[in-house]
Amino acid sequence: MFAHDDHTAVAVSGGKDSLTLLTLLVKMEQRFPNSKITAVSVDEGIEGYRDEALQIASDTCRKLKVKHHIVSYKELFGVTTDMIVEEHLGKTPCSYCGVLRRKAINKAAAKIGATKIATAHNLDDEVQTVLLNMLHGDPMRIIRSGPVLQDVRGRFITRVKPFCDIPEKEIVLYAYLVGLEFQSVACPHGNQALRNDIRSFLNQMEQKHAGTKFTLQKTAEKLREQLSTTIHPLELRDCEKCGDPTPHRLCEACIMLESIGPQPLVDSLTAAFI
Ligand code: SF4
Ligand code: ZN
Repeated sequence: MFAHDDHTAVAVSGGKDSLTLLTLLVKMEQRFPNSKITAVSVDEGIEGYRDEALQIASDTCRKLKVKHHIVSYKELFGVTTDMIVEEHLGKTPCSYCGVLRRKAINKAAAKIGATKIATAHNLDDEVQTVLLNMLHGDPMRIIRSGPVLQDVRGRFITRVKPFCDIPEKEIVLYAYLVGLEFQSVACPHGNQALRNDIRSFLNQMEQKHAGTKFTLQKTAEKLREQLSTTIHPLELRDCEKCGDPTPHRLCEACIMLESIGPQPLVDSLTAAFI
């Protein structure tokens, strides 16, 4: 996943997974003097939730002596997740928020000159996503996700998921054992997501049939291997609005922003370094 001289942008939300990942990568980085780590956080604009998480993330970065780069939806896209929720759009808040977060992290990573983006998706997240894509009737997305998302055409920064085979419970255990402070409050908009039902289902299955999550992860890997040899990479062009690579006229984020309303796409990063 990493080269010895990578500048890795670690996506840090302030939760247990991302702070554990940051802590472990900082430890590992000390053995590789040509590598560099910067923490990147996104402020989605969720009142009573994100402020505390960002504070915890900043405090941890200070302790670990890691630079912390924060970008916000408001600055980048002119909207916040709270504003999107108020619009009462047909989709769940997470479907908007997730797409915008990916774009925000990409922009922040490009801005700081990162060569990799590391996210803290764990085994539970990964297998939930596999089932989610199936239930959404979009199995091809399974190919486009996975532990390493590399863009051979050099249009995106490679994304890696070092925790993709680690069960969530083990990460929580580690975080408690080393005394990490992390945000434990759940996002107020998250409970509408189909993902929560899938999470409960998979946890029940795991309890009754130990190993279910690993098996599903291995199944997805096999599918990826098989399908990637038969599927041609999508033809990419520049999004007419923001210039990011996309197979369509507009990228997914710009389509979503258009559906929300006439919000200007602010393409300047005025993020603060803490
Ligand atoms: Fe955004 Fe959904 Fe995550 Fe809340 S739970 S921060 S709305 S993706
Ligand atoms: Zn776009």
